[in-house]
Amino acid sequence: MVRMTGVHKWYGHAHVLRGIDLEVPRGTVTVVLGPSGSGKSTALRCINQLEEIQAGAIRVDGELMGYREGVRRGTPTLFRLHPKVVARQRSRIGMVFQRFNLFPHMTAAGNVVEAQVQVLGRPKAQARERALELLGRVGLSDRTDHYPAQLSGGQQQRVAIARALAMDPELMLFDEPTSALDPELVGEVLGVMRDLAASGMTMVVVTHETGFAREVADQAVFMADGVVVEHGSPERVLVDPTEQRTRDFLARVL
Ligand code: ATP
Ligand code: MG
Repeated sequence: MVRMTGVHKWYGHAHVLRGIDLEVPRGTVTVVLGPSGSGKSTALRCINQLEEIQAGAIRVDGELMGYREGVRRGTPTLFRLHPKVVARQRSRIGMVFQRFNLFPHMTAAGNVVEAQVQVLGRPKAQARERALELLGRVGLSDRTDHYPAQLSGGQQQRVAIARALAMDPELMLFDEPTSALDPELVGEVLGVMRDLAASGMTMVVVTHETGFAREVADQAVFMADGVVVEHGSPERVLVDPTEQRTRDFLARVL
């Protein structure tokens, strides 16, 4: 479903991704861990084309993200795709951030309706029906007309998940979705993510919730300094890592 090969990303002179190789099979959950600044968020943002890459390739379902292959003066070259085409590619991918970024002047239902109407051009009644269905799925049937300020952090994050799902994504990316939450609210968000995984959604989740990783993930990936240091089953990577850097990190976070 997702294949990153030799992905490099620079911010100016800062070489942030230094040859990332990552494979995420369809219908599986991959958890990404690693120290602050190791490039986890950048990797997700590159998959979702919020950032351009400078070398390597990212494919989603075989389709090259952000670029097309061509030839310039006899040399195979990648050409940046038109922003409209990039926007279409991006619309297949849902993303949930640490900060929920809901529209404060819209209700929970309004937040879930908005992009369906603006981006997908869905009729409003149909978008509302889908919003109510998804808010039910994340356990918020009784909060559909509340404004973000009237919702807890965990509830806001569940609205953000419903909003992403409303675009019917094939792939969901989560960037530390529970790290801004009070501890007692973490479980309800992880519960929604667990249900989503059980429904067969392909997911890449940056999180340090190792319990979730061991219970739900098919693959754990440990990143440091812009590379994948090791990857494998969550049990192996989190319980019995082969690399010293992974061991040092786990000793600090667990
Ligand atoms: P954290 O666990 O703190 O979220 P991370 O693994 O997600 O860290 P990134 O946010 O991907 O790390 O950042 C990787 C590196 O890229 C860091 O050194 C960061 O300072 C740098 N960086 C990130 N975004 C930008 C940007 N927009 N401009 C310049 N440098 C950036
Ligand atoms: Mg980050």
